[in-house]
Amino acid sequence: MISIKNISKWYGDFQVLTDCSADIKKGEVVVVCGPSGSGKSTLIKCVNALEPFQKGEIIFDGTSVGLPDTDLPKLRSKIGMVFQNFELFPHLSIIENLMLAQQRVLNRSSDEARSKGMQLLDRVGLSAQAAKFPGQLSGGQQQRVAIARALAMNPIAMLFDEPTSALDPEMVNEVLDVMTELAREGMTMMCVTHEMGFARRVANRVIFMDGGRIEEDCSKEDFFGTPRGERAQHFLSKIL
Ligand code: ADP
Ligand code: MG
Repeated sequence: MISIKNISKWYGDFQVLTDCSADIKKGEVVVVCGPSGSGKSTLIKCVNALEPFQKGEIIFDGTSVGLPDTDLPKLRSKIGMVFQNFELFPHLSIIENLMLAQQRVLNRSSDEARSKGMQLLDRVGLSAQAAKFPGQLSGGQQQRVAIARALAMNPIAMLFDEPTSALDPEMVNEVLDVMTELAREGMTMMCVTHEMGFARRVANRVIFMDGGRIEEDCSKEDFFGTPRGERAQHFLSKIL
């Protein structure tokens, strides 16, 4: 479903990604980890064209992401993205946050968008919070809203960029539980996370990045089970 082929990217003179390749099949859950600054966020932003790249090609569901004539709104509506800092609209209620893109991008009626939004809030256990504003919810609840908002667009894949890094520890699991359920239902997922418990339980594959390169791309059994390259081992020894 996602084919990343020999991607290289520069910010000015600084090469942030070097010859990165990976394939993510339908229904696969791939965890991307690696030290801060290794290019994880940049790589997943390339997948939904939030960042341009200079070399290589990314094919998402048969569409080449980087071409000038690619229909970006259509492409992005198929890829749900969840960020570290939730990025909810603070001036809109929770249900309005879920309705906005459904109406603007998918032309759903207000009734349709509301009903889909309520259904998804129920799924993440937050239907009672629909009329509240983001600032009135905990970080864990806001992140579950952000996931529900992404799902409201009926995406065929989800990208997560450190969805639990900004949360207090007691809220991490409520978000990971929603992600785990999504994975069990067969969603194709690319998750930047350092939650190795989640990786062990849910991932099919683990990609380890360092210095803008994909240094490891293997099954989770291999990643956790057999000795990895020196850098991956060093990284794991620090976070486990
Ligand atoms: P990670 O998500 O693994 O922490 P990032 O993809 O955010 O890494 O960043 C990779 C590198 O690119 C870092 O060295 C970062 O400072 C640099 N970088 C990120 N965004 C920009 C930008 N807009 N302009 C210049 N350099 C950037
Ligand atoms: Mg990052």
